[in-house]
Amino acid sequence: MIAIYPGSFDPITLGHLDIIERGQKLFDCVIVAVLCNTNKKPLFSVEKRLEQIRQCTQHLTNVKVDSFTGLTVDYAKLHKAGVLLRGLRVLSDFEKELQMAHTNKTLSGKIETVFLATTTEYSFLSSSTVKEIAQFGGEISHLVPKNVAKDLCLYYSKSH
Ligand code: ADP
Repeated sequence: MIAIYPGSFDPITLGHLDIIERGQKLFDCVIVAVLCNTNKKPLFSVEKRLEQIRQCTQHLTNVKVDSFTGLTVDYAKLHKAGVLLRGLRVLSDFEKELQMAHTNKTLSGKIETVFLATTTEYSFLSSSTVKEIAQFGGEISHLVPKNVAKDLCLYYSKSH
């Protein structure tokens, strides 16, 4: 069974990576799919995010990294995926994620959304929190992969 793990990953955090590492043990293949969403103004380009994800998942042989536009279910169908993998952190994620899962179900009855509960230590970790900390020179090495920490430090040292 192929699973798609869609998201913004701007940038990928150790919380995301934890879901990927646990997900790839459950499925034959996990495709981490970066959504090119024109509504959001990302910090990192899609190409940069793909590079960041590829670097920190290179040890996982059944993980592929890609980007897409349009509907997630259409992308899933294109890749013959049966599952959309999502992570659940705090209660506030639940409403949004459930709504998305129900919507996707109405668009394609064959594709199931599977949720993995966050590992406790990452339950309050989000890409935006990391960016906020990095912006003010705070410690982020325990929150993101090494290559991402480097990119964030570089980004904020240049923009100040
Ligand atoms: P999106 O814009 O689609 O929410 P994100 O990159 O913010 O994209 O998140 C992608 C998925 O990863 C979502 O299902 C989100 O709930 C999950 N996720 C994000 N951070 C964590 C974390 N720390 N632990 C577990 N799941 C997470």
